[in-house]
Formats: sequence, structure tokens, C-alpha cells
Amino acid sequence: MTIRIGIAGVGKIAQDQHIPVIAASPDFDLIAAASRHGRIEGGETYPTIEAMLGAEQLDAVALCQPPQVRFDAARVAIEAGKHVFLEKPPGATLSEVEILRELAQAKGVTLFASWHSRYASGVGAARTWLAGKTLHSVEIEWKEDVRHWHPGQAWIWEAGGMGVFDPGINALSIATAILPPFYLTEGLLEVPANKASPIAADLRFVTASGTPVHAAFDWRQTGPQTWDIRVTTDAGKLVLAKGGSELSIDGEPRSLPPEAEYRGLYDRFAALIQAGESDVDVSPLRHVADAQLRAERRAVEAFED
Ligand code: NAP
Repeated sequence: MTIRIGIAGVGKIAQDQHIPVIAASPDFDLIAAASRHGRIEGGETYPTIEAMLGAEQLDAVALCQPPQVRFDAARVAIEAGKHVFLEKPPGATLSEVEILRELAQAKGVTLFASWHSRYASGVGAARTWLAGKTLHSVEIEWKEDVRHWHPGQAWIWEAGGMGVFDPGINALSIATAILPPFYLTEGLLEVPANKASPIAADLRFVTASGTPVHAAFDWRQTGPQTWDIRVTTDAGKLVLAKGGSELSIDGEPRSLPPEAEYRGLYDRFAALIQAGESDVDVSPLRHVADAQLRAERRAVEAFED
């Protein structure tokens, strides 16, 4: 039996990934959407998630709005007995995600905090190669042009939008999947004078055994874009490039399966629903929260996007 799913928020990621991937999935049928401005083909669009849930018989919902408004939608869906797929980041705060986890458990529905970058082609192979090796150092460089990737997205700069951590959390989702646990020791957040969220972050982490992990996130990069993780070990150097889609060891490229991040997410969501389980790993979001606690905040020149 296919899972009848509705989506809430018909913005960039819903159009680029959720709608086509659900259409191609053998496990899901896209029945309806909740959106103030967007719409979907082949299904009804409602102005609110409450209206969608009231009018349609759904098994699940995928929440594709900005993190600041995701909690209320998730709570309403869970209370209506629906399985819930949360886009990344799973919420604007750690506490709200914890409440959702408890609500889902009490209601007996699946809650899935998705991290699409963990499903990039090279991530599984990187985790396998790193297992058991001694790490010497880790460099994470996530630098992109915000004007190119986020035109007109005001929410991303507002409180709870996370600024440069919106892409940076993708790097952290990979790092927390392939490295031993690490924690922040110092950092610098650069916040434009006219924005609430950082445009750049320089973060120094360390693992429990003392391996330094340095992360540099920057939204001011024009020209070539950089989404790389480089790990130096006792057995060679691993480079996970282009957001996890390319892997090389000591300069030798590894052959990888084709890109299928969102197909991987929806396969996982279906498997969780089938098994009656949830998957809510907040570790990438916790590092973002730690950066607000531990890093210095510096005002930099205003940024016109
Ligand atoms: P977006 O293009 O700005 O779309 C956001 C959607 O949420 C819109 O459909 C919007 O309006 C709806 N929405 C509901 N309440 C809103 C509010 N108060 N403010 C703004 N929009 C509101 O954003 P997006 O790029 O799709 O990102 C959504 C989430 O997906 C974010 O958490 C982001 O990190 C994640 N994500 C994005 C990408 C990407 O490439 N853009 C990749 C992976 C993950 P309607 O109600 O009209 O639908």
C-alpha cells in the first residue's frame, strides 16, 4: 500500500526535490499541498496545513517550510496522527525538536529529521574508509554565494533562519556522520550590521581524543563554490568534495553511485514508517546552537542581498 502524503510549503526545495522524488517513488502518492502562494499538479492545494489535514485522508506530511514555522505545522500533523518528514534543519531550536520527538512517540507516529547531505553519494564510502583509522586533522570548507543560492529568501537572514548555518549545517550533518564525536572550543561569527544571522562562521572543534576539526563557512564566495571536507589520517588523506558527491583518497577519485539524496531520504522515511520507528538526530543542530553559546559574535559591514 502506498503512503498518502501531503507537503507543506511549496518553495524551492519542494519544487526542486520533494515533488519530483515523491512522484517517482513507489512508496508514496502526493495527494495535496498546503501553501499560501504555490500549488502542485494533480492534487489540491490548501491555504493552511489545518485545512489540508481536515479535507484529505493523509498518512504522512513532508514539511518544507523555513525552520521558524515548522514546529507548529509538525505539532498539528502529529496530533492528527500523521507521520512527519522534517526538512533540515528539523527546527529553529533544540527544545522544540525534543518536544516533537516526545509528541510523536506518544502518538505512535514516525518523526523523521532529514539530513539530505548524509545521502550524498560519497558519504557512506567515506564513513566506511575512515572507520578504525587514526585521524590527524579535519578541514571543513563550505563557501558559497548567498545571492546566487538564496535570492529573495528573507527568512534565512532572520532570527531562527540560521544565516550561513543553513548551508553550514549540511557540512555538520556529514561531519557528525563520518567522524567521531567532536565539540566546539572557540569560534567567530560574523554578522552583517543589517542582519540577525551570521554571514560567516569560523569554528574550531576538537574530538575527545584531541583531533582538531576546523570549519569555515562563508556566504560571500563568488566564482567557484566550495563544499569540501578534508580528513588527514594515519593511512592517507580523504577528500569529500562538492557537498559529499565526490570522494578521493590520496588524490585518487573513487567511483560512486549517481546522486540520489532525496530518493534516499524518501526510501528511509518509508522504511521508518513500515518499521514503526522515528529517526531524530539533532547533533548537527546542536553544533549550531553551541556556536551561538561559545563563539564570539562580531558585527561586519551591512550586506545587501
Ligand atoms: P523557500 O524557497 O523560501 O520556500 C519556503 C516555503 O515555505 C515557501 O513555499 C513558503 O511559502 C513557505 N512558508 C511558510 N511559512 C513561511 C514563512 N513564514 N516565511 C517564508 N516562507 C514560508 O525555501 P526553501 O529553499 O525551499 O527552504 C525550505 C527549507 O528547505 C529550509 O529549511 C531549507 O534549509 C531546506 N532546504 C533547502 C534547499 C534549497 O536548495 N533551497 C535544499 C535543502 C534543504 P508558501 O506558503 O507560499 O508555500
